[in-house]
Amino acid sequence: MPKRRDSRAWQYGLVVLGVVAAVAIVVVSLLTGHAKRETPGDVDCTQVKCVALTFDDGPGPYTDRLLQILKDNDAKATFFLIGNKVAANPAGAKRIADAGMEIGSHTWEHPNMTTIPPQDVPAQFSRASDAIEAATGQRPKLVRTAGGVINDQVLAEAKKFGLADINWDVIPFDWINDANIAATRYMLMTQIKPGSVVLFHDTYSSTVDLVYQFIPVLKANGYHLVTVSQLLGPREPGSTYGARDNGPPANVLQEIAADEIPSLPNTPSPPPMPNFPITDIPGANSGGPNNGA
Ligand SMILES: [Zn+2]
Repeated sequence: MPKRRDSRAWQYGLVVLGVVAAVAIVVVSLLTGHAKRETPGDVDCTQVKCVALTFDDGPGPYTDRLLQILKDNDAKATFFLIGNKVAANPAGAKRIADAGMEIGSHTWEHPNMTTIPPQDVPAQFSRASDAIEAATGQRPKLVRTAGGVINDQVLAEAKKFGLADINWDVIPFDWINDANIAATRYMLMTQIKPGSVVLFHDTYSSTVDLVYQFIPVLKANGYHLVTVSQLLGPREPGSTYGARDNGPPANVLQEIAADEIPSLPNTPSPPPMPNFPITDIPGANSGGPNNGA
């Protein structure tokens, strides 16, 4: 029955054509970025639970380990980098940017911006932004001052450099609890709620350990880990967000089973990093002996 064979061949041809066309459409969509890919950038934080983890005072010796943990979890975070550390380690800063993380300024050398001579304030912003841009190709739009200490005069200067000030909603005191991860973890368990901006320091190996074991808790509770800008949207230069203290406990996180928490790598965690002399300004480091927040 030649006619029937022709019909089958025609149908077969149509199927092949259809498959080829479908594959072509998918390939072109992916290449042109029109296909919807599940990345944190697609998360709508008005519809789902988001939390923005932030890491201050780097780049440091433990930053790359943290980046790998974040990558392994498809998580994004925001790093407020100290300008003189970026100038000393531009490759380290670039790796943060290349990992898709958001980078903000943590000023040039981390002084108390409200007590240094007012004429020194602009350079703390400009030198940090210059160093970050030179290292990463991106000029920061967000700033966090040392200890979150800021006033109207400093904020007005930040505005001139296109910077919006970002503090936090949750401060788990990781630098004080360096040897006591459980204490920091307790603060996270009781304080984090949808929309929280959390202050950490990746200058502590204990903080990286804690984040490694706490991300599964956040994910099990339905949280998406996003950058500050993904969480808050565009911020006006000269505006400020957050506070310096914790608010009332939220107590909305549910604990997960112990066997769902990954064990720490079978290598001893490095000891806490020695304090960096991150400011040359006598008495102007607001963070105390461990450089604090
Ligand atoms: Zn700091």
